[in-house]
Amino acid sequence: MVQSFKYVIVGGGVAAGYAAREFAKQGLKPGELAIVSKEAVAPYERPALSKAYLFPESPARLPGFHVCVGSGGERLLPEWYAEKGIELILSTEIVKADLASKSLITAAGETINYQILIIATGSTVIRLSDFGTQGADAKNIFYLREVEDADILYAAIKEKKNAKAVVVGGGYIGLELSAVLRLNNIDVTMVYPEPWCMPRLFSSGLAAFYEGYYKNKGVNIIKGTVVVGFTSNSNGEVKEVKLKDGRVLEADIVVVGVGGRPQTALFKGQVQEEKGGIKTNASFETSVPGVYAVGDVATFPLKLYGELRRVEHVDHARKSAEQAVKAIKAAEERKTTEEYDYLPYFYSRSFDLAWQFYGDNVGDTVLFGDNNPESPKPNFGTYWVKDGKVVGAFLEGGTPEDNKAIAKVARVQPPVQDIDVLAKEGLSFASKI
Ligand code: FAD
Repeated sequence: MVQSFKYVIVGGGVAAGYAAREFAKQGLKPGELAIVSKEAVAPYERPALSKAYLFPESPARLPGFHVCVGSGGERLLPEWYAEKGIELILSTEIVKADLASKSLITAAGETINYQILIIATGSTVIRLSDFGTQGADAKNIFYLREVEDADILYAAIKEKKNAKAVVVGGGYIGLELSAVLRLNNIDVTMVYPEPWCMPRLFSSGLAAFYEGYYKNKGVNIIKGTVVVGFTSNSNGEVKEVKLKDGRVLEADIVVVGVGGRPQTALFKGQVQEEKGGIKTNASFETSVPGVYAVGDVATFPLKLYGELRRVEHVDHARKSAEQAVKAIKAAEERKTTEEYDYLPYFYSRSFDLAWQFYGDNVGDTVLFGDNNPESPKPNFGTYWVKDGKVVGAFLEGGTPEDNKAIAKVARVQPPVQDIDVLAKEGLSFASKI
């Protein structure tokens, strides 16, 4: 079968959903747009999978968190796409893309032609088997990227009451999953090689709070070593996790969060790449005219820092998708779009904690507030100061106004005379800007 559309989005995740809404806003005729997704469900807010989706009581379930609820918009239910005449081609993997002939081939051998293509294939998880870790294919070793993975993990959590879990990786996935496993009354040990958790963002001062808080919640933390292998029982189920430092941990469940990799393989050799992603201009158009890349796969010019960046966060997925669609529609009318000026924003939530980060985490760090893990209402943060200016800001436990204030600081980049004064002023420095 051959199908043809004016616009095709390959990938049906966060960026695809926000792109669809923007197309509808800008004006779309029925039958013009198709979203082709490997997943069986309409686009949803992926961050829910490591949070409320795994809660022991009233877990979040679709259709509750379809896009665009995550940014305060209305949910786009499957019926919405039908009403707009947007074709949702689900459970369909694209296995070949030929950008020269403007066609995509599905796993079932069908052809989908397009005039304009948006690549929104997101990331895939890095697996321990990619490193050749011995025994890494045992049963009950889980990864989390898509709703299907979350369903399998949820079933294991429910089945293995009072289980022991080992969480491999100390990034945000490791931290969020450790928290939710504890909420499910599972005995959790986190293992990561770095000297502290979330090392790509957290300073040692920030990490000290989260590690202390997690320990108080009963999470065991083993740092400075890596998993070298697993043993399994006669059913092939994981039983032990072997660490490089010689320790052996019992485990009924292992959850691995050691990072992601942008899914660009379909387009290798056909588009320019940079920094591990598909290189785009400020309109998210790739080196091939009429082919756009958004979300996790895009390496785009970040105006604020004057350099190309790739950003693997949900806010960027939403905004880059909207920008690409605005640019596509503007180009059709020979107009221009407003220049894209993105401020990096990332957040995480676990237990009763919630933090937000804006800007760039480069330069010296200045910790402020009370980062005592015993504190009943933790409220503290960090500024990043480079070349005498605040370039990044992090806040735990902020109100919406506080979070707005730190976002503004990261955007405005005010000068700092004295770092000690900044530490003393803390959040009130941001509130004055
Ligand atoms: P995705 O949302 O990953 O969508 C990609 C889609 O493309 C998927 O549906 C995939 O199946 C499909 N696809 C890929 N290849 C093909 C193909 N060949 N054919 C057809 N379909 C294909 N970010 C934050 O800022 N805060 C958070 O708290 C946070 N939590 C997260 C928790 C989890 C568990 C995960 C996995 C991510 C989290 N993120 C978070 C990151 C955020 O979700 C991603 O940055 C965002 O989803 C990227 O959007 P995207 O549209 O580029 O890719």
